[in-house]
Amino acid sequence: MSRAHNFNAGPAALPLEVLEIAQKELTDFNGTGMSIMEHSHRGKAYDAVHAEAVANIGKLLGLTDAYQVLFLQGGASLQFSMVPMNLLGAGQTADYVNSGAWAGKAIKEAKKVGAITVVADTSKDIPTNMPDYSALAYTKGAAYVHVTSNETIAGTQIQQFPKTEAPLVCDMSSDILCRPIDIQNFGLIYAGAQKNLGPSGLTLVVIRKDLIERAPATLGTMLQYRTHAKENSLYNTPPTFGIYILMLVSRWLLAQGGAAGMEKINQAKAAKIYAAIDNSGGYYRGGAVPAFRSTMNITWRLPSEALEEKFIKEATALKMIGLKGHRDVGGCRASVYNACPVESVDALVAFMADFKAKNG
Ligand SMILES: *Cc1c(COP(=O)(O)O)cnc(C)c1O
Repeated sequence: MSRAHNFNAGPAALPLEVLEIAQKELTDFNGTGMSIMEHSHRGKAYDAVHAEAVANIGKLLGLTDAYQVLFLQGGASLQFSMVPMNLLGAGQTADYVNSGAWAGKAIKEAKKVGAITVVADTSKDIPTNMPDYSALAYTKGAAYVHVTSNETIAGTQIQQFPKTEAPLVCDMSSDILCRPIDIQNFGLIYAGAQKNLGPSGLTLVVIRKDLIERAPATLGTMLQYRTHAKENSLYNTPPTFGIYILMLVSRWLLAQGGAAGMEKINQAKAAKIYAAIDNSGGYYRGGAVPAFRSTMNITWRLPSEALEEKFIKEATALKMIGLKGHRDVGGCRASVYNACPVESVDALVAFMADFKAKNG
């Protein structure tokens, strides 16, 4: 078997161990004679999977009784709308930080729902940047503050979350569980699963319970957090196979030492690639301001677009997949999420040195 070095931005690499378990159990889950996909979402077999997924996410994020885990659909993109629909009451405002493309999309959707204040905008900064979150002037009495912990396209990541008076809402799609967080800082966290948690088609929402009931009753039933909270994400048919894979990934994360274990591994992986950039004598140029460099999405440029194209082509031939930067920013990007093995990082770093030696 020959696995690719998968640097895709999302959907992204999954742990090989997880795929192998899923493969083994695919046609006969736990001796039931059918796939977990073929089980009722209200039956015993699936129920145990669902319960373990909720419990493991709770362990990994250090959730207290004050929080609830929800498994939703519609991607992180639907949360751009659901957050303001549920939390931004009539006559209220919310604060948003525009740190890049994903924050910008959240802002665009929130504006359709109500009044928001953009308290900082670094979305046009090159090299890509983030503001000093602790120094921002947040609006007194705001319904919430929305931030994006990791800008997947720009390759920037919040290093220290602010302590805000209003509930902090965070899009953690591309770095959830890459490091420990203090859950008490947050009112609501959401993440599409396809980067750090599992397959696409599943969205994790962690909500502080006092925020669940804020939505107006006139809001569509499926759009209300309370609907899903009341029914433990089983109001309608959830994406059962996605939740099963997320459960396997959560087991794998616990075996890596949880968020703290992952942080050590992720820092070591990212450090190797940033060293390859910084020690290249300017041949590779990092895309992000060093103080906000992401451990998940690492962006860099080569001396010319022609060399970038050659770099990506030759890397692809060596089974290093997904190194082309997002079409909006160009250049190169390596997405090294939790499940990207260190062997893939080592292969990339060796190739970067080799390519520079031949084309420098
Ligand atoms: C990928 C991504 C999204 C979009 O997620 P979907 O699940 O495709 O809607 C939103 N925010 C961030 C930070 C992302 O990386």
